[in-house]
Amino acid sequence: MAEPILKVDNLVKHFPIKKSGRGPASFVQAVSGVSFELAAGETLGLVGESGCGKTTTGRTILKLNEPTSGSIFFEGRDITRLKPSAMRPLRAQMQIIFQDPYSALNPRQTIGKIISAPFEIQGVEPAGGMKQAVQALMERVGLNPEHFNRYPHEFSGGQRQRIGIARAIALKPRFIVADEPVSALDVSIQAQVINLLDDLKAEEKISMVFIAHDLSVVQHISDRVAVMYLGKIMELAATADLFAMPRHPYTKALLSAVPLPDPRNERTRERIILQGDLPSPINPPKGCVFNTRCWKAQEKCRTDEPTLLTIGKSQVACHFPID
Ligand code: ATP
Repeated sequence: MAEPILKVDNLVKHFPIKKSGRGPASFVQAVSGVSFELAAGETLGLVGESGCGKTTTGRTILKLNEPTSGSIFFEGRDITRLKPSAMRPLRAQMQIIFQDPYSALNPRQTIGKIISAPFEIQGVEPAGGMKQAVQALMERVGLNPEHFNRYPHEFSGGQRQRIGIARAIALKPRFIVADEPVSALDVSIQAQVINLLDDLKAEEKISMVFIAHDLSVVQHISDRVAVMYLGKIMELAATADLFAMPRHPYTKALLSAVPLPDPRNERTRERIILQGDLPSPINPPKGCVFNTRCWKAQEKCRTDEPTLLTIGKSQVACHFPID
């Protein structure tokens, strides 16, 4: 494989919990040892239930959170400990698209102003002038360039997400974290925005980490998918392999919740309902973090933590993977 654009090694992000009085300090163990590589032009889907650490992983890779430990290499350069001032020039290369297109846009700024912000922050004067560059971006993401002077409230949710995308691609980034970019949108609009991101990734050769809690959302756009649970990657595989043959019991459970396109299969689809609640990331289970809800768990799973190992074409962190 060519040099990956992004290499994340054993990334940990624990948030300290403020407490009064004595006693040992405690931490929300949001991300606990995540490792993966992203090839140039590749999209990695990051999925898992709410609270499993997807957003924290995305934000920490971009250094919007300081990592607790581990390392992040972007285009071969170790950025793990870069200070904000040293990160600033890299911000043009590494962008984020937020989940909520309502709160991510300043309601008092026109669309023109919002989309021109990245140029201004980086001190870039686009060839042909700012207005032309912004209007070209608006057109690129499927917005009417004549709406340059309108305000966010004049747009629908899907259009606002297009504004967020235009802002993210303004400086031709090499890498984007798309953090649940369609979760706040109507289902009918979701596919349009996913298709737009898919086109951009192909045409602009952007590598992407695409975060979603729903496997069906990442299926179309991702080359590979990483399934997270309680701050750890449980399984990482090419999208087709993961859907055809989930190896981790948790992946199988998540997949069983995805409706099947063929009504005959859909009628007989067997849903795996996980027992028990999601454990607290402040005090995750010993051994395999999934053991308290896993129907295949045995004694070993309660004591030994499985590492991510290659099984067939997938990487799986499980003592008793499905074969
Ligand atoms: P969601 O889909 O709900 O956004 P997620 O999988 O993206 O969930 P994160 O938002 O990364 O998960 O959160 C992981 C854990 O870290 C959660 O328990 C969350 O409450 C906690 N957490 C996130 N940010 C902070 C913070 N700044 N301070 C303390 N705890 C945090």
